Amino acid sequence: MKPRIAFFDFASCEGDQLQIVNLEERLLELLQHVEVVSFREAMKEHSDNYDIAFIEGSCTRASDEERLKKIRANAKIVVALGSCATIGGINCIKNYRNQTEVRKEVYGDKYELFDTYLARPIEAVIKVDYKVPQCPINKEEFLSVAKALLTGQKPFIPDYPVCVECKMNGNVCVFEKGMTCVGPVTRAGCGSCCVNEGAICWGCRGLIDNPNTDAHKEVLEKYNLTPQEVMNKFKLYFGWSDTNAQKPQS
Ligand code: SF4
Ligand code: SF4
Ligand code: SF4
Repeated sequence: MKPRIAFFDFASCEGDQLQIVNLEERLLELLQHVEVVSFREAMKEHSDNYDIAFIEGSCTRASDEERLKKIRANAKIVVALGSCATIGGINCIKNYRNQTEVRKEVYGDKYELFDTYLARPIEAVIKVDYKVPQCPINKEEFLSVAKALLTGQKPFIPDYPVCVECKMNGNVCVFEKGMTCVGPVTRAGCGSCCVNEGAICWGCRGLIDNPNTDAHKEVLEKYNLTPQEVMNKFKLYFGWSDTNAQKPQS
């Protein structure tokens, strides 16, 4: 019998599931080895009988927790997909603001009808077995994680900083251009794609397991930058783990 897999989304743009749909013919190859029982982005059918649950998006309201716990109870393996699910991601920008003000901005005078709380990664609510990072996920990395799980292996996700890939790509470091970058502490695997295109690394793949913060501090000192200047860059994706985030209401 084929392993049964299911996809779920919480607060998200569904860009990660779109990446999976974009696998096109390789998705069809994957489908020869699994049975998809739930995938709202691509099909209407749904079953609660699955082995692996892939979850996209952050948990942004208390009422999401029950649904997450039910998924956890049904699945043998839970995999978080994308920055929102793995680290909280851009949904956590609101964590720096007063939550009532945020609700009023979105829902106007009906705001009290809509429950919300600080946006968080799904790991803040349920146990997560594996993570596919990035915003959006890299479809090749998703495929490699899926293949590893289906063959009983541990998926490989790099645990070294984006700077390694950036240097291998021959980029001039953005610090040399007067910009700041969180590549020194961010998990590689994206091929430093943002820096390659002239931007900076904002950290969408999350921190490496043991970030070398001393080395990062040395970089800041070398370029006369303050930790705050770098922390401001972290605000885009790290509003859940950033202890500087203002948390006026939980
Ligand atoms: S990680 Fe990025 S692509 Fe995925 S749901 Fe969040 S915003 Fe969308
Ligand atoms: S700090 Fe940023 S720009 Fe510099 S090497 Fe690292 S990833 Fe590249
Ligand atoms: S360079 Fe940084 S922000 Fe860009 S995809 Fe890689 S980890 Fe994400």
